[in-house]
Amino acid sequence: MSLSPPVRVRFAPSPTGYLHVGGARTALYNYLFAKRYGGKFILRVEDTDTERSSEEFIRMQLADLKWLGLDWDEGPDFETLKDSGEYGPYRQSQRQDIYKKYAEKLIESGQAYYCFLTDAEIDEQRQRAQREGRPPHVDSPYRDWTLEKAKERMSNGETAVVRFKVGEKKDYTFKDLVRGEVVFPSDMVGDFVLLRSSGMPVYNFCCAIDDALMKITHVFRAEEHLSNTLRQMMIYETLGFTLPEFGHMSIILGSDKQKLSKRHGATSCNEYKERGFLPEALLNFVALLGWSSPDGEEVMSVDQLTSKFAVDRLNSSPAVFDEAKLLWMNATHLRALPNAKIFERLKPYLDAQGLKFTGGPEWQNQAIETFKSSMQTLQDGVGLFTHLSETPIQMTDEGREALAWPTSRKVLEVWKAGLENLPGEFLTEAEFMELQNTVKEKAEVKGKQLFQPIRVAVIGSPHGTELKLLIPLLQKHILIDRAEQALANMSSQ
Ligand code: GLU
Repeated sequence: MSLSPPVRVRFAPSPTGYLHVGGARTALYNYLFAKRYGGKFILRVEDTDTERSSEEFIRMQLADLKWLGLDWDEGPDFETLKDSGEYGPYRQSQRQDIYKKYAEKLIESGQAYYCFLTDAEIDEQRQRAQREGRPPHVDSPYRDWTLEKAKERMSNGETAVVRFKVGEKKDYTFKDLVRGEVVFPSDMVGDFVLLRSSGMPVYNFCCAIDDALMKITHVFRAEEHLSNTLRQMMIYETLGFTLPEFGHMSIILGSDKQKLSKRHGATSCNEYKERGFLPEALLNFVALLGWSSPDGEEVMSVDQLTSKFAVDRLNSSPAVFDEAKLLWMNATHLRALPNAKIFERLKPYLDAQGLKFTGGPEWQNQAIETFKSSMQTLQDGVGLFTHLSETPIQMTDEGREALAWPTSRKVLEVWKAGLENLPGEFLTEAEFMELQNTVKEKAEVKGKQLFQPIRVAVIGSPHGTELKLLIPLLQKHILIDRAEQALANMSSQ
């Protein structure tokens, strides 16, 4: 399906921090909309806030989008930051001349003016308006100055902001794709700044100009920008640009129903990546924060999301970020992958911990098969695979208690001797069962007194994965080392 004119949507992050999960949702909805309607997904970097923006943050945000698989058709490359696409530059800091040109156009046509009000004067006006119960709009005496007069004043070195001249009172109405009809009376805003005295343009001005010049047809963005739409509509109207369609998405709340913030825990995609979440699970999860599938399905691939995504199911009521659901979603996506793929996804996390394994594909398959039901995230996998590495095990308190039983020394001595007598790099399940029987007979123990010390000598804890599954995955020399370690611990107690 395609719309006419061809769909062009954009994600326009401000690189003042990591990519937030809310940003990922905005990017995803735009991406899905573009894919659904055969359109283009554009990435525009809104980096005019020079104090808070940094190239480092641009790179990180772009890398996170890339990790999520939200590839853009136009915009800066995620590594080189070089632009591709015919509507560049795609970084607002590189479009200053364009904004300046439009500001001049508006000044010359009398729709904007140089304003010399100082901050103190503006403050005073605000306070007076507040006392008198009026809206805190700027009332600039420079509104009606001639351009010559303003230029003359500036020729003395004085700086001025450029203010947009808000016209006669009227209503601005549009049909928000999420919220339905929205009406803004124009006197909700006073004459607003387009260019700061430093010459730096403000967000509303850049955004309107860029959306127009980049031929953006639909703008899906966070609810917090709803009120900006009025100023942007005024700029569109004055410059004779065609208005895009807008859709302002629901706010995302934390579990306490307050706006989702760092207080609630991880909010950046990067943190979720580090915690071992799969990008497809995170996308699936954020897709459902304010949208639902017509068939009620919850677990979906990006392709399925694309084929089902439509704006009529975007919901304007607040969405609650439920981390337990995200974990469930992640586990579901993870366990649906073939074992070899799970290992492939896990490998970078194992490498990051310096965990090396000599086992080939068969071993990897077996290890994943053994652990995957205990894995909700890839980091869970790291914890479990640590048991299989040469890293010395951490003994739990319960583990120490089991080793302190009077029968445990004998159990481990027989266990260790039995291991040493076996040929081969690994024990088979049958060899393990047989050795366990030998221990039972020679140490004259059974049940808990037999199984727990052995388990503690393997993983440091009396609880966990079944030994008959775990043991065949551990190289024999590691088992011997751990038995020695446990015996040594017992001697030192
Ligand atoms: N740069 C804005 C932000 O990060 C985007 C605003 C918009 O999409 O219009 O919130």
